[in-house]
Amino acid sequence: MEINNYFDYNATTPVDPRVVDEMKPFFSENFHNPSSFYSKAGEASYAIKIARERVAKLINANEDEIFFTSGGTESDNLAVQGIVSRFKEKGNHIITSSIEHPAVLKTCEFLAKQGYEVTFLPVDEKGYVSPEELKSSMKENTILVTIMHANNEIGIIQPIKELAKVAHSKGVYFHTDAVQTTGKIPVDVKALDVDLLSFSSHKIYGPKGMGVLYKKKGIKVDPLLFGGGHEKGVRAGTENVTGIIGLGKAAELALAEMDGEEKKLRPLRDRIKKGIFDTVPEILVNGDPENGLYNTLNVSIKYIEGESILAMLDGQGFALSSGSACSSKSLEPSHVLLAIGLKHEDAHGSLRISLGKYNTEEAVDGLLKALPPVVERLRSMSPFWQSK
Ligand code: PLP
Repeated sequence: MEINNYFDYNATTPVDPRVVDEMKPFFSENFHNPSSFYSKAGEASYAIKIARERVAKLINANEDEIFFTSGGTESDNLAVQGIVSRFKEKGNHIITSSIEHPAVLKTCEFLAKQGYEVTFLPVDEKGYVSPEELKSSMKENTILVTIMHANNEIGIIQPIKELAKVAHSKGVYFHTDAVQTTGKIPVDVKALDVDLLSFSSHKIYGPKGMGVLYKKKGIKVDPLLFGGGHEKGVRAGTENVTGIIGLGKAAELALAEMDGEEKKLRPLRDRIKKGIFDTVPEILVNGDPENGLYNTLNVSIKYIEGESILAMLDGQGFALSSGSACSSKSLEPSHVLLAIGLKHEDAHGSLRISLGKYNTEEAVDGLLKALPPVVERLRSMSPFWQSK
């Protein structure tokens, strides 16, 4: 598969060669444990400091509010479990949305089994959580509200500032999973006024297995991992030095190049949307592409299975996703598409196209040429299409 034909950037991104270059010396030449005493260890520790500064700058945080983790999943778990464990004396009610990534959703389901009370807020037909609805579900015993910034499947961007304001008006902490926004659009923890925010390195051209939890100064969470006091006791374990350095460089590049990415990718995404509309009948557009993530398009192609389209496009060298990328091997229809009110069969016919750095106009035109015959062929074999 040619890299230009990769249309699954919300699932993961290739590591930028400039990121690889910064990481390289720290694999073998400068492999030392940053906590050790000798000068070489000091170099690793200094490189981590620089990375922390770069990451903090990306989200307008202070360096001492950045905690390195193993990825978005761990950051989400640490935020949610860490807060509710720490503040269990104050209450046991958590509010989240029904379209969260499984890293939050399953954590909340686990906590519900442990006796916490969890409210899963519904969303409207585009995917928005209503601040009014949040307000009316707040209770005396609410200790955390966790609502994602942008959804990985449909790209909807939530009104985080308004939602955080509702939580804060009752003195409740607000966490957001910003894995899909950080590095793509400006994410400013002060402007959003969030207490905790998660993001991941491999969505921004950094290495996999690396993430960040932003934790506003003064807020305390119980750790998930116990060990030797790393990351000020919030996340124990010898630092993933290469990963941290890679993420730091990726953060620096994202900040510098974000505007250019949007200028390039929004028209490409819109070209795909128009192209599909012009050539494929009976499709639904999911989410709110104009106001959502500029790199994401989610459509349901009625009467056929998204998985079959993926397989046939894969045969022609195109990589796309259907439903949720992280669990796209699952045959269950996407919980996000069901939550916005899609019928099961339409949710099954969903395609997610998410663009990034290496997509070109030629690749987009190639995809637009490949898709209609695939749809036509699959529909000609579909009993639902024939009996409609
Ligand atoms: N949250 C969202 C919104 C995501 O899209 C993902 C990954 O797809 C995650 C969390 C998990 O991040 P990671 O893969 O770094 O664990």
